[in-house]
Amino acid sequence: MSPGDRRLLPVHAPRGVGMLRGSQTFPDAARTALADTQLRRNLGHATATIRAKRAAVVGEVADWEELREAGRSIKADTMARLDDLLIQLEERVAAAGGVVHWAQDADEANSIVTRLVRAAGADEVVKVKSMATQEIGLNEALADAGIAAYETDLAELIIQLSGDRPSHILVPAIHKNRAEIRALFARTLPGVDPDLTDDPRELAAAARSHLRRRFLSAKVAVSGANFGVAETGTLAVVESEGNGRMCLTLPRTLITVMGIEKVVPTFRDLEVFLQLLPRSSTGERMNPYTSLWTGVHAGDGPEAFHLVLLDNGRTAVLSDEVGRETLHCIRCSACLNVCPVYSRTGGHAYNSVYPGPIGAILTPQLVGIHAAESLPYASTLCGACYEVCPVKINIPEVLVHLRGKVVRHKQAEHSGWRARLDPEAAAMAAMARVFSSRARYERAQRLARLGQAPLARRGPISHLPGGLMSGWTEMRDLKALPQRTFREWWVERDGSRADA
Ligand code: SF4
Repeated sequence: MSPGDRRLLPVHAPRGVGMLRGSQTFPDAARTALADTQLRRNLGHATATIRAKRAAVVGEVADWEELREAGRSIKADTMARLDDLLIQLEERVAAAGGVVHWAQDADEANSIVTRLVRAAGADEVVKVKSMATQEIGLNEALADAGIAAYETDLAELIIQLSGDRPSHILVPAIHKNRAEIRALFARTLPGVDPDLTDDPRELAAAARSHLRRRFLSAKVAVSGANFGVAETGTLAVVESEGNGRMCLTLPRTLITVMGIEKVVPTFRDLEVFLQLLPRSSTGERMNPYTSLWTGVHAGDGPEAFHLVLLDNGRTAVLSDEVGRETLHCIRCSACLNVCPVYSRTGGHAYNSVYPGPIGAILTPQLVGIHAAESLPYASTLCGACYEVCPVKINIPEVLVHLRGKVVRHKQAEHSGWRARLDPEAAAMAAMARVFSSRARYERAQRLARLGQAPLARRGPISHLPGGLMSGWTEMRDLKALPQRTFREWWVERDGSRADA
């Protein structure tokens, strides 16, 4: 390695990688993100642009709803017989000359990949953008083993060079603008034109000439997979820049890390997803580069192919009847772009590899509800994500289901005397007592009407006292109780009991 090359060693995101990337809860991290006006401007502009593109190309497809339904039903069928399909995939890949490895968790997957890279005699790999390898913290694990991993997707390269973290599934550098990227390239890419401008074509050309050397020298490539076809043993990667095609064809060894939920039963099923995915993700009619490969072929592409099938919590998700539809996700990121929460806070606030609405339902299920209990609340439940999801994942329903789990988890944690010390648990217990008796409920209403008088002098209550209650009015007003309930009004009007 020449001294000049040293500047190119990948910079990694701060430690704490893996599925969760920090200990901050969503509300705290969101508050910090919302205070960054440049970030909000970048995000607002980028998400609005992708939203408009998606809406235009989806509007062109007369049978879009039928396509979505087809995508949903293929995924539901796949999940119902996932075990058989995975075995079939393994058999087909092996028959085509590939080797299949099963990884129960991130550590196992990382050690398999590390071993394979060493066995290929390499100390560096080129990478195709992959959420699965981010999820397991592969780059960091390889770095610990003395192996450099070079991201080749433009946005991932930007993130890697800046030592930042991705903030979007599809556009990881969505939070950065062109001027910031120009400054980054001028600082980190050796031999870059000193007159480099922030013109996107110039920026892409600078990255291209930097990456070309990597493609030509790498012995090993690591990729994820968008789909794995059980029927044929074919793997598929879709991308927009051609970097994936280079990684998948030039190096002698190809290692693919694929979440087990990415399997589809038949080759024909790709027809549905290859229509749904580009229109939902980049707002394009078809994907610029769709690479399909089946095992190895003499004189054509890699000489060795390894497929690492990653569980890492997915079978636990599969066992939850409501939560399992989360595994239908094809990572298009349409739900992020329409989410009123994501489009203001950005992805970093989620502190999770998977941000936005899909992250809010996937991450807590993969890492355990106790480790990410603020994420199911990172939503207004407006339903925009459900409307755009190409495989019709009912994200709001799963969010509510997970919120129920959070509450039950807290109840279990705060049982007995602890419950009496926890203000929220104590308030809920008191509410339950009040709501369980009509007499108590009506008495509480009369008391609340009296008690609210000093707070509701000018109509809505804009500030509630006390640490717990004031949280409610921090961001919204509370409608004051009316002077008469419906029942009281009815009795007065009718002279009879309301429930008669
Ligand atoms: S949940 Fe649906 S909309 Fe969101 S990334 Fe997954 S497939 Fe796309």
